[in-house]
Amino acid sequence: METVLITGVGRGIGYKLAEDFLRLGYNVIGTVRDDASRQRVSDRAAGLGAEIELHILEITDSHSVDKFTSALTGRCIDILINSAGIIGGDHQTHEDLNFDDWERTFQVNTVAPMRIALALLPNLSLSKNAKIVSISSKMGALSGKSAGAIAYRSSKAALNKSMQCLAIELKPKNIGVYLVHPGWVRTDMGGESADISVEESSAGLIKVITAFSMQHTGRFWQYDGQELDW
Ligand code: NDP
Repeated sequence: METVLITGVGRGIGYKLAEDFLRLGYNVIGTVRDDASRQRVSDRAAGLGAEIELHILEITDSHSVDKFTSALTGRCIDILINSAGIIGGDHQTHEDLNFDDWERTFQVNTVAPMRIALALLPNLSLSKNAKIVSISSKMGALSGKSAGAIAYRSSKAALNKSMQCLAIELKPKNIGVYLVHPGWVRTDMGGESADISVEESSAGLIKVITAFSMQHTGRFWQYDGQELDW
């Protein structure tokens, strides 16, 4: 069975994806930031009769990424899902933009997914069907007309462009690179009034991700299979 590695499985979409991939019989490697999250996720997986391999990872810390990827040396990873992300603060209009928050948001949402993808390329190269999937957001689409959340929107727009570049560069190596929008989801980030449950988002994302092939690389997809404008 294939191996899927998901960042940020302590809660939200990352956790649900991990649970659902486990139910489907995948080998799941997940990352959390602390021992309490590790214990909680491990207990929940055990409740499903499954085992999840968990590692501590702070995605913005290059030493933490090095330690994490060293522990995986020589192991094949078929699917990498960059799920960990932040909204980056409440105050993000031209009147109240916090520049420190903006830089932090870029580190988490834009730089870290690329750092992790590149660090895991040796592992992904061992797969016949390697996929790098980053959870982006429609909020980063330049074709959209809404404003606010400057830090978050710009971090996802830059994530899209950087991963599109990676898709072009990795195509000759047969490694696919995909951006997905999970819907507006009821998580800590999405809030209680969001459109869809985490169950619906995860089920849709898994259907889309498992169906990806090289013909879909370098493009932006919604959880329900619709292709999106950048
Ligand atoms: P949550 O806020 O529920 O969960 C975020 C996860 O990311 C947590 O597991 C958190 O870990 C982890 N994380 C945050 N920062 C770091 C870091 N520096 N290092 C390691 N892990 C980190 O968010 P969602 O599940 O809602 O979002 C998941 C992804 O989906 C994000 O990329 C988000 O931008 C995207 N998205 C979400 C939407 C929504 O409506 N919810 C809509 C569009 C996109 P910890 O528990 O330790 O804080």
